[in-house]
Amino acid sequence: MATLSEWSHENPKLLVFTGAGLSAESGISTFRDADGLWEKHDIDVVANGYTWRDNLDLVRQFYNDRRVGLAAVEANLAHQMVAQWQQQYNTLVLTQNIDDLLERAGCRDVIHLHGKLSEMRCVACGLIWDIGYRAWEENERCDCGSRRGVRPNVVFFNEDADQYQHMYTAFENISSGDCIVIIGTSGQVIAVDQLINSSDCLKILNNLNSSKFISEAIYDHVLLGNATEMCIKIDKLIEAYMGA
Ligand code: NAD
Ligand code: ZN
Repeated sequence: MATLSEWSHENPKLLVFTGAGLSAESGISTFRDADGLWEKHDIDVVANGYTWRDNLDLVRQFYNDRRVGLAAVEANLAHQMVAQWQQQYNTLVLTQNIDDLLERAGCRDVIHLHGKLSEMRCVACGLIWDIGYRAWEENERCDCGSRRGVRPNVVFFNEDADQYQHMYTAFENISSGDCIVIIGTSGQVIAVDQLINSSDCLKILNNLNSSKFISEAIYDHVLLGNATEMCIKIDKLIEAYMGA
């Protein structure tokens, strides 16, 4: 387990970067796969930084439904494997996921690049608070008393993601002898290829299917299949390389 600062001062490093595919087998829809979330919801209505206020009822309903759904599912073997790597190696975990399944599997210090479903934020003062899996009520207000409103503490499209600076720092800190594991991301929102391109290290990719946004040729190992099966293979690759 390590914070970014602790992690960057120790060698060798394991950097785990995850996306919606990691939680797919737990029963949380991905965004872009067939039958994914965007097949059923309009992105411009429920996750758009410019327009979310105009669609407040739908936005509230959408995120409340996501929280109900999250409460009903469990971490899977791949989440647990990431937690095990945190115990075994000098590991930093970055995720695009807003769910808490990595934490429920035992991961700590996870950097949530797109925020957390279980948190709300005051639009006026920026205060963040945990609401767990409960509903975001229509009259929910921040303690500061502002009437400007509250919102989920997640990054909508067209908004800056302040956690990205930590992601850039982490990838810049990778050097030879380190290992990058990427699980369950299409590369459409965050261009992972560009992050790892110059890193001289072991690069492992796991997705269910190939993505047109990812060049598989730049990875040392590409494992196509379910994360819960592939994580066992990834574990062996890491062990052989990092010499556990
Ligand atoms: P994406 O939906 O664009 O891509 C999902 C990727 O996961 C695909 O490459 C697919 O091949 C792979 N995949 C699907 N099932 C898999 C499985 N069982 N095992 C391994 N891989 C599997 O997701 P993304 O790249 O993370 O980006 C989309 C955005 O979606 C992110 O901004 C994220 O915040 C958001 N999102 C989060 C959640 C969540 O919190 N669980 C769910 C949906 C979307
Ligand atoms: Zn406030």
